Amino acid sequence: MRSYFQPPIRLGSKTTQLVSHIASVDYIEVASEIEALLLESRLIKKFRPFYNIASKDDTSPFYVHLTSSKFPKPVVNHLPNQAIAGPFLSGWTVRHILKSLRRVAPYHTESPCFYRHLGLCRPCPDDPQTTIADYLKNISRLKRMLRGQFKSVLHLAVKAQDFETATALRDLLLRPVSPEEYVVNPNLLCDRRQEALESLHLALNTWPLVRIEMYDISQLAGSAVTGAMTVAVNGQLSPTNYRHFTIHSGRDDVARLKEMLSRRLKTDWPTPDLIVVDGGKPQLSIVNWDIPTIALAKKEEIIYTPSSAIKLPRSHPGLQLLQRLRDEAHRFARRLHHRHRSLIIK
Ligand SMILES: [Zn+2]
Repeated sequence: MRSYFQPPIRLGSKTTQLVSHIASVDYIEVASEIEALLLESRLIKKFRPFYNIASKDDTSPFYVHLTSSKFPKPVVNHLPNQAIAGPFLSGWTVRHILKSLRRVAPYHTESPCFYRHLGLCRPCPDDPQTTIADYLKNISRLKRMLRGQFKSVLHLAVKAQDFETATALRDLLLRPVSPEEYVVNPNLLCDRRQEALESLHLALNTWPLVRIEMYDISQLAGSAVTGAMTVAVNGQLSPTNYRHFTIHSGRDDVARLKEMLSRRLKTDWPTPDLIVVDGGKPQLSIVNWDIPTIALAKKEEIIYTPSSAIKLPRSHPGLQLLQRLRDEAHRFARRLHHRHRSLIIK
């Protein structure tokens, strides 16, 4: 965006002309890069903006097609007719999208297959046991995702107990939303964050919830015990506020958690409105402060407060926010373990 607002001398004549016609600027916030790129394509298709499409000095836009071979694969060209996705303004964008989606919907590009062993072609036609029907499942999955139908892909994968696909998709997108939903409501993410906080407020009877902190203790074989703190500010994950703790007390997880929290509460970091610990009732026995504190139990996803146990539906936006914070804490802790281990190897 900033690149448009430079001294005219640095802009090409086309861009200078474009900028002179800008009356206002608006933006739509999305949850992931892939959604942003697909949404851009959708908006170009919908509005056909003059400066993106009609201009002669631009190379023509890119489209995704499927080959008509027995085991089809996506290819990129400049032909709009019968394209399964596009227009995209750059070759980089479309290649990046396909590369990312391949992790969720693997496809075959050439024999002998090099991608098979990377998990990027599965089931692979080079394997005599692969049936066309099985292979085509991934292709229809790919088509759906290119249309932005991430929700239906996730739903079908979960229904078929295909957790590999579901996990790959969740890794790709924080929360599947179709480009249409962003078109209908450009404030969707903001509204969802608000919705999560309000539902949590109702469930826990605590307010405000500006800063929520999640604590998790973990130990991977052969490395030190570490604690991870993840933070959400106004319902949004805030990675710059995440912190690692090296834990010294060796007795059990409750003692380790106690050490981590007593150290954290002595810092001058902003005071949290809600503390969430990974665990159950025993973890709450450490609470000797006034800040509202709950425990989130892993398997049943039950929320414990010092006085009650709350079971929320899996679709509860507030619970989903807590789960995201917890998943972040696990991921964040693992990152430190990897760093430790690489130090040891050196
Ligand atoms: Zn293959």
